Amino acid sequence: MSTIAFIGLGNMGGPMAANLVKAGHRVVGVDVTEAAIAHHVEAGGERAASIADAVAGADVVVTMLPSGREVSALYLGPSGIIAKAKAGALLIDSSTIDVDTARAVAKAAADKGFAMLDGPVSGGVGGAAGGTLTFMCGGEDDTFARAKPLLEAMGKTIVHAGGPGNGQAAKICNNMILGITMIATSEAFVLAEKLGLDAQKLFDIASKSSGQSWSLTTYCPVPGPVPTSPANRDYQPGFTAAMMLKDLKLAQDAARSANAVTPLGAEATSLYGLFAAQGGSATDFSGIVRFLRGK
Ligand code: NAD
Repeated sequence: MSTIAFIGLGNMGGPMAANLVKAGHRVVGVDVTEAAIAHHVEAGGERAASIADAVAGADVVVTMLPSGREVSALYLGPSGIIAKAKAGALLIDSSTIDVDTARAVAKAAADKGFAMLDGPVSGGVGGAAGGTLTFMCGGEDDTFARAKPLLEAMGKTIVHAGGPGNGQAAKICNNMILGITMIATSEAFVLAEKLGLDAQKLFDIASKSSGQSWSLTTYCPVPGPVPTSPANRDYQPGFTAAMMLKDLKLAQDAARSANAVTPLGAEATSLYGLFAAQGGSATDFSGIVRFLRGK
């Protein structure tokens, strides 16, 4: 059993912290929202007066925050995690953030002698509640080995993607593929409609042909062919278009920083930006088919 400081008890962090409690750990939670802390205490967690108090006695610190801005501020600030954590504590950031910030924070942690892992997740709120998340991890081999048993209390698939920042790199590369293939799949269904080709027929053929992808076979953007896809429930999320836009923007930031050519990633970012601006933010990202269809 470890004492874990868990910072960021939101839609994802709340159920992740609850799974750590269920696994027998002492979990001291911090959030800026009282409701999130109250929920954590109901689930068997403890509260702390401040980040400094939470991390001072913790063997492990886990953060699940909105963006790189909060991660930078909370790790690097004068009363932040790196300044106040117990010597030898393991630091894990599971937020989805930009690769450069992840690497800068990992370096600042290493400079003070802390082992740090970036471990962003996929699997959404359902995966967080069910303990079935996928963790994509960046950090040294021994840091990954140390973190893995703990991550297994929150996830089912725990992958080591390489050194610091590589967890974030894996996450944004994967989601760039996802955003692009969802647009490609949606465009094909809209074209099929205009050509008088039945959606089910296109699905039956493409899912057994070279047009096959996860966006088609697991998350089909039109109602019918895949009964569990959000298209069958009026595009209730799932994974919102706002979250897809966030991850596509992170991929574009990384591409600029690394001098990589990603024209389809750029186009997908622009299309999801337009979809979000026209009211699609809170709908599932597969709802982009409606935007492409014009209704
Ligand atoms: P959320 O907004 O529900 O949770 C973030 C929590 O952090 C909130 O409770 C907020 O109050 C807290 N917070 C913000 N600033 C803080 C501070 N300074 N100190 C303490 N707490 C602070 O977001 P979420 O949906 O839980 O997502 C968290 C991260 O996980 C994001 O980086 C997101 O991109 C990523 N993610 C989300 C999903 C999803 O489906 N929701 C899936 C995969 C990854």
